[in-house]
Amino acid sequence: MIVVIGSGVAGLSAALSLARARYDVKVITKSVTGGSTPIAKGGIAVPVGRDDSPEIHAHDTLKAGAGLCDEGAVRYFTHQAVKVYYQLQEMGFKFDPELWLEGGHSRRRIAHRTDETGAQLHRFLYHRAVEMDVRIVEAQLISLKASNGKVRGVVTDKGEIEAEKVVLATGGYNSAFKFATSKGNLGEGIASAFLAGAAVADMEFVQFHPTVTEDGFLMTEALRGEGAKLINDKGERFAFAYDQRGELAPRDVLARAVYTEYLKGNEVFLDLSDVRELDKRFPVVSDYLRKRGLGTRVKIVTAAHFTIGGVLTNVKGQTTLENLFAIGEAADTGLHGANRLASNSLLEGMVMGLNISDFIEDDWTGPKLKGNDLIEIEVKQAEGLDLDSVKEGNWRHLGVIREGKSLEEWLNVLKDRHGNAWSLVSYLAAYSALVRRESRGSHYRSDYPQQDDSFRKRFVLVRKGSV
Ligand SMILES: Cc1cc2nc3c(=O)[nH]c(=O)nc-3n(C[C@H](O)[C@H](O)[C@H](O)COP(=O)(O)OP(=O)(O)OC[C@H]3O[C@@H](n4cnc5c(N)ncnc54)[C@H](O)[C@@H]3O)c2cc1C
Repeated sequence: MIVVIGSGVAGLSAALSLARARYDVKVITKSVTGGSTPIAKGGIAVPVGRDDSPEIHAHDTLKAGAGLCDEGAVRYFTHQAVKVYYQLQEMGFKFDPELWLEGGHSRRRIAHRTDETGAQLHRFLYHRAVEMDVRIVEAQLISLKASNGKVRGVVTDKGEIEAEKVVLATGGYNSAFKFATSKGNLGEGIASAFLAGAAVADMEFVQFHPTVTEDGFLMTEALRGEGAKLINDKGERFAFAYDQRGELAPRDVLARAVYTEYLKGNEVFLDLSDVRELDKRFPVVSDYLRKRGLGTRVKIVTAAHFTIGGVLTNVKGQTTLENLFAIGEAADTGLHGANRLASNSLLEGMVMGLNISDFIEDDWTGPKLKGNDLIEIEVKQAEGLDLDSVKEGNWRHLGVIREGKSLEEWLNVLKDRHGNAWSLVSYLAAYSALVRRESRGSHYRSDYPQQDDSFRKRFVLVRKGSV
C-alpha cells in the first residue's frame, strides 16, 4: 500500500494519480479541509498565453529566486505547467477565460477560478478522489517508521500503518509564526522526515505577505494593483518612503515596510476606497468585510505566508530516504530558490502530485546533494516549547527582519527545547538563518543587508548520525 499524508493540492493530486494507475492508496490527513490549499486565492501560474512560453516563465522564476533556484527543476515545472493546465481541464476543472497578471510575472499567466481558486480546486480534487474510491481518513502523522535508510510505514495518533511507500504532502510551517496566513501548518511532516534521517534544505527562506488582517485573512495583492493604499494611523501613505514603486513594490519590500511601521508603534491600514467595483471583482474580500461589518479601511499586519524550505527532493519527489516521497510545500525541489514567484506553489503541488504514478516504481536516485553545504544538526532528547511561545519567538527573532544576536538568542533557547515538530522546524530555520550572513530573496538580515556571492549556495541539514 502507498500512504499519502495530507489532503491539500499535492496530496489529493497524488492520490488521484496513484488511484488512476491502480495502486492501493490511502490518504491520511489531520483535517480534510485543513492546510493552505482550500484558502489559496490567486491561482496557478501557467505559461499558456499567446505571448508566453515555458522559457519566459522559467526566466521570471529564476529572477525571483535570487540565484538559488535549481535551474533543472525550474525548467521541468514551467514545461509541465502547460501539460497540467490542459490535463486539469480534461478532468473537468473549469478555469475563468482570462489569465491574470501578478507581481514578478512578465506575462499574464495566472489561471484562476474567481478569487477562490484554491477552494474550487480543492473541492474538485476531493470529489474526484472520492469518485475513484480513494480512502481518506482523518488522523495525525506522529512519526515515520524507518530502518536501514528505508521508510516502511507511519505512526499516527490512531495507530500504525505499514506501507511500501509514503508520500508526504503535509504542507509547510508558516503557522508556527504569530501572524500567519494559514492555520495548522506546523511542519509536522518535515520534522518527521528529518528525524527519520531525510535531508531538509533552505529552511531560512520564509515568505512574508505584507497585507494580512490580524485574524489571518489575506488581502490579495491584486487589490493594490487596483488602487488600494497603505496608510498608517497618522494618515501617512508611507509605502513611497520605502520604495519609489509605492504600493506596487515587491512583496518582501512592502512586508519590511509594514513591519517597520509596526516596530515604530504605528498601526497600518489598507485603504480600499479607490478600488473600483470591489463587490463584483473581489467577491471573497467583500464577503469577508461584510461579515465583520468592516468598511473600506482595514487594519493589516505582515504575516508568514509560504515556507520555501522543506524536505530535499528531486522533481519526482524522491527524498534522501528510500521509499519516502515529499511533494508540494513540504518538499524543497529548488523551484523557488530564495524567493517564490507568486502562484508557482499550487503549480508545484499539482505537477508533483499528478505525475507521481509515473515515478513511483523508479530506481531510487534521490536528490543531488553535491554543490550544497551539508550541515549536521544534533537532535537532543528534549521537551519542545509550547506553540504560543514558538509563534511569539519566531515572530520576534525569525520574522521579516532578522539580526545575528537575536537569532543566536532564539537558537540558544531552541537547542535545548526542540522536542516537538514546530520547535524542531523553527530550530532548523533559525540555524540556517544565522549561518546565512547575507540578505537574499525572502531572507533579510539587518546586520548583513547586502547579497553576498560567497553565500550563493543552499544549506542542506541532516540529523547528526544519520549519514
Ligand atoms: C491564504 C493563502 C493564499 C495562497 N494563494 C496562493 C495562490 O494564489 N497561488 C499559489 O500558487 N499558492 C498560493 N498559496 C500557497 C499555496 O496555497 C500552498 O503552497 C499550497 O496550497 C500547498 O499545498 P500542499 O498540498 O503542499 O499543502 P497544504 O494545502 O497546506 O495541505 C497540507 C495538508 O497536510 C495535512 N497535514 C498537516 N500536518 C499533518 C499531520 N501531522 N498529519 C496528517 N496530515 C497533516 C493538512 O491537514 C493538509 O491536508 C497561498 C497560501 C495561503 C495561505
